Amino acid sequence: MIIGSKTHPNRQNNMNSKPTRELRSAREIKKMRAAGLIVWEAHQAAARIIKAGVTTGEINQVYIDTFDRHQAHPLFLNYGTPPFPAETCISVNEEVVHGIPNDRVLVDGDIVSVDTGCRIKGWCGDAALTHAIGEIDKTSQRLLQVTKDTLDLAIKLIDHETQWSGVCKQMEKFVNDAGFHVVEELTGHGIGKELHEEPSVPNYYSKEAMMSMDFDLRPGTVLAIEPMVNEGTKEVGMLDDEWTIVTADDSNSAHFEHTVAITNEGPVRLTGPPSDKELESMPEWLQDKSQWVLW
Ligand code: MG
Repeated sequence: MIIGSKTHPNRQNNMNSKPTRELRSAREIKKMRAAGLIVWEAHQAAARIIKAGVTTGEINQVYIDTFDRHQAHPLFLNYGTPPFPAETCISVNEEVVHGIPNDRVLVDGDIVSVDTGCRIKGWCGDAALTHAIGEIDKTSQRLLQVTKDTLDLAIKLIDHETQWSGVCKQMEKFVNDAGFHVVEELTGHGIGKELHEEPSVPNYYSKEAMMSMDFDLRPGTVLAIEPMVNEGTKEVGMLDDEWTIVTADDSNSAHFEHTVAITNEGPVRLTGPPSDKELESMPEWLQDKSQWVLW
């Protein structure tokens, strides 16, 4: 999970006890879409200012403004122990996730992951993406593409698999085939009324992990799917701020996430872009689709 629960298989439930979760009705999923769309809008607003010379604190402010405008509740602020001090996690280069926005100035060649979530009318949305700042090196370009493609692959596979193990096995293989490594210490998660619900949603496969973490891909399940991919070792550590997760070898790391509902019609990205009908009631500055950042 992305904030708070530093999940490791060894600290998971007892063997054979499958995590239970609540299934969501179509009406509840529609409410979650409202939260997801605000998260999407906030990421679009941020994308317009993210460039060299901007601080991660200034980026965070865009999310505060967007959530305020919608009177949405930021889910990350004050989360956990010690309380997370911002509305977003902003993680630069070797920072994997949970970076704390501050006065760090972004420079050309950086990659910066932004993760956020909000609740509106009782329901949550959560999504993340990684931006390139100016010209980034070829390996970083590939890292971003592979991580994004891993998320797309997972969402696509939901329609073809019956168990999550079938999905995460292929996610991990896809990443490994590209020469990169999946972070195992952190997982995605169920999401609904709370940011973090059952089940855990790992991005890798092992027989041992699946004994406690595998689950059925049943309609009504809503998942925050969020591959974290390292250029080098899969191993990670934590900084003294007790939040920021970094790669053990200082190699770059990328992170993409969507909140995805499994429905009878297939997987639906609740933090994905608006339909034409949804767009009608959204601000003018969002109407030009060519300006959207897509993931
Ligand atoms: Mg998440």
